[in-house]
Amino acid sequence: MKRALLTILALLALTAIGLFAFRGPLSLALMDRTLKRNMAADMAKDLPDGLHAYVCGSGSPLPDPQRTGPCLAVIAGQRVFLVDAGEGAAETLARGNLAAGRIERVFLTHFHSDHIDGLGAVALQRWVGKAATTPLMLAGPQGVERIAAGLGEVYAIDNGYRTGHHGVAVAPPSGAGFVARPFVLPPGPSSLVVLDEGGLKVTAFRVDHGPVEPAVGYRFDYRGRSLVVSGDTATSANLVKASRGADLLIHDALSPTLVRRMQAAALDAGMRNRGKILGDIIDYHASPEQVADQAKTAGVSAVLLTHIVPPLPLKALEGPFLGDSRKRFPGQLWIARDRDLISLPAGSEAISLSNIGR
Ligand SMILES: [Zn+2]
Ligand SMILES: [Zn+2]
Repeated sequence: MKRALLTILALLALTAIGLFAFRGPLSLALMDRTLKRNMAADMAKDLPDGLHAYVCGSGSPLPDPQRTGPCLAVIAGQRVFLVDAGEGAAETLARGNLAAGRIERVFLTHFHSDHIDGLGAVALQRWVGKAATTPLMLAGPQGVERIAAGLGEVYAIDNGYRTGHHGVAVAPPSGAGFVARPFVLPPGPSSLVVLDEGGLKVTAFRVDHGPVEPAVGYRFDYRGRSLVVSGDTATSANLVKASRGADLLIHDALSPTLVRRMQAAALDAGMRNRGKILGDIIDYHASPEQVADQAKTAGVSAVLLTHIVPPLPLKALEGPFLGDSRKRFPGQLWIARDRDLISLPAGSEAISLSNIGR
């Protein structure tokens, strides 16, 4: 008995020594296998026909180790669009195996830096990912021309390096940079169809992110399914109107209770500027409870809260963040995480959420 035990222990020790000695080759074999799988992966290809939303960033301007900047990919059939691209968007797209080369255009909700500061990396990945021969299209309210021109200038020198290094077949100069597709929203509460082709309709509508103007949200309708992206907004009658009967409302959310605690800590620490800014941001985003109330009024089926302010480093903070919102809205209400995928398959009423990628 004792001898058998010693033999087992010796074998275990030898195995451990073997694994230790071969950990380099083993890790390389694992790397090769993972690369093979990831390089060939294409998330959009495997989705059923319908409307899908992939969260390529659920964060805000506040540093958050769990969330990259605001970004949402909307997949309609096999067409891929982005709504905003904050810092880290390209990375979170890659982690979900959503190839940047598939992006047809980016709809911008407004020009706050946290919604556009990931565009450079997205444009580069799209360009060289498929040897694009046309620049990345940025659609948005007036002002988007300046964003496209300014970012184009920022990356012009780098673009030259890429073409020079990799050749025109990989990085054709005509595909570098950005092209603007501005639209003008009529005054007041009316909305504007900004894309209508192949069964997909995208409608822009004004929201209330004052003093930031213009600020818009978008509604996507495709094969009987619909989702609304709020952009950044406080409560907005216009958003409720645009969201009527939608399957999914994806809305920014800020907890005044938690932000006030941050503000108090900043002021206690003598950080007057930070305290002032934290106070200023409270009234230009909706709270989770306000989103729940609006979603109920609009009759939407499900809500995804995103642009989460402040960061929630502990799972236990989700309760205080949500307050009574789950009691106030009868449908599903989720807090978005990076790499969440919400699917609205055509020909059904199903709404499913999963967290994908790596
Ligand atoms: Zn924002
Ligand atoms: Zn904003």
